[in-house]
Formats: sequence, C-alpha cells, structure tokens
Amino acid sequence: MAEGERGRLIVLAGPTAVGKGTVAAWVREHHPEIWMSVSATTRPARPGEVDGRHYHFVSPEEFDRLIAEDGLLEYATVHGVNRYGTPRAAVEEKLEQGESVLLEIDLQGARQVRERFPEAFLVFLAPPSWDELVNRLVGRGTETEAERERRLATAREELAAVSEFDATIVNTEVEEAGRELVDLFRSRPPADPAG
Ligand code: 5GP
Repeated sequence: MAEGERGRLIVLAGPTAVGKGTVAAWVREHHPEIWMSVSATTRPARPGEVDGRHYHFVSPEEFDRLIAEDGLLEYATVHGVNRYGTPRAAVEEKLEQGESVLLEIDLQGARQVRERFPEAFLVFLAPPSWDELVNRLVGRGTETEAERERRLATAREELAAVSEFDATIVNTEVEEAGRELVDLFRSRPPADPAG
C-alpha cells in the first residue's frame, strides 16, 4: 500500500433483528485484517460479554463525558433505552494507518457517520423479505399487540432508509452475507482524505 494512504471506513447498518451482529461476528472471526470498532455503551454486559472486547461498558456519566470531549464519532439511544457510541480516536488512528475499519451500528449512527465522513461506504443489511423480518420480530409471540405494532412500524421506517445507502446486502445466509461484505471492502478504492 502506498505511504500515507488512508484506510476504508465501512458501516454496516440495517433494521432491528436483521442479523447485523451475527454477520459482523462472522467477519471478525474470518477476517482479522479488518479492524472492528468496539463501541461504548451504557447497557449492562450480558453473560459472556467481555469489557473492551464486545463493548466498552460505561456509566451514563462516563458516556456524557465522552460526548462532552467530542470523543465519539457518532452516538445514539437504541430501542429508547441504552446509549451506544463509536469511540473516535481509535477509528481515526486505524484509518490513518491505512487499515480497513468496520462499524456495526444502528441507522441513526449510520446517518451521523455519513455527515461526518462523506467518504464512508454505507452498507444496508436487508432481510430476505418483509415477511421474514416480521417473523424474526414477532415470531416469539411474547409481545402484546401494541408492542408488535410498534416494532413493525419501526421496521417499516427502517426499511425505507435503504435508499440512503451505497450498497445493500440481503442477509439470507450469514456466511454469504459476510463474504459479500468483505468483497465490498476489497473492491472499494481507499477513502480519499480530501472527501
Ligand atoms: P446490542 O445491545 O444487542 O448489542 O445492540 C443493540 C443495537 O445497538 C444494535 O442494533 C447495534 O447495531 C447498535 N449499536 C452497537 N454499537 C453501536 C454504536 O456504537 N453506535 C450506534 N449508533 N449503534 C450501535
């Protein structure tokens, strides 16, 4: 790679329950050359999650401080409860070093990245069909009718965001979707620091 060449910033986003996390985990496991940002979150760790690896688990006060210091490249409240954000310094450092960087974030975050990094490449992970997404969202049948309606309304809005993205990958099968994402990384020219 030529000296001074910046790395590529790719964002993987998509509707709730489409399987972004699973596709990102496949990429992490099979393509260690792609650097995945570790987000900060105010959500408590789930069993098996490791601080600094899956997330940086922080208090609401620490999250506020990160925002105040302009330490987050983007941040959002997801599902109306917990806050999640991408630490800025590590991403910028990796891009400077010419490494490819992948962010797996929600739609609100993807829109912020678009504004701040016009050269970022935004990939929308789509469900195989609307029916499939509905199944994944309401399949468990444990939600009330009102809750189901709310989730479906959110999903409809989220699906409409597809036109804001540079590419779409249909998540029919995890490995296939992961490979497509990596191919996109490889086929994209590196980001132009001039924008
Ligand atoms: P979970 O709590 O299940 O790990 O993640 C919930 C949601 O938060 C997922 O949709 C994931 O994409 C999103 N998310 C994770 N990290 C970030 C981040 O740094 N920024 C934003 N905007 N969303 C994130």
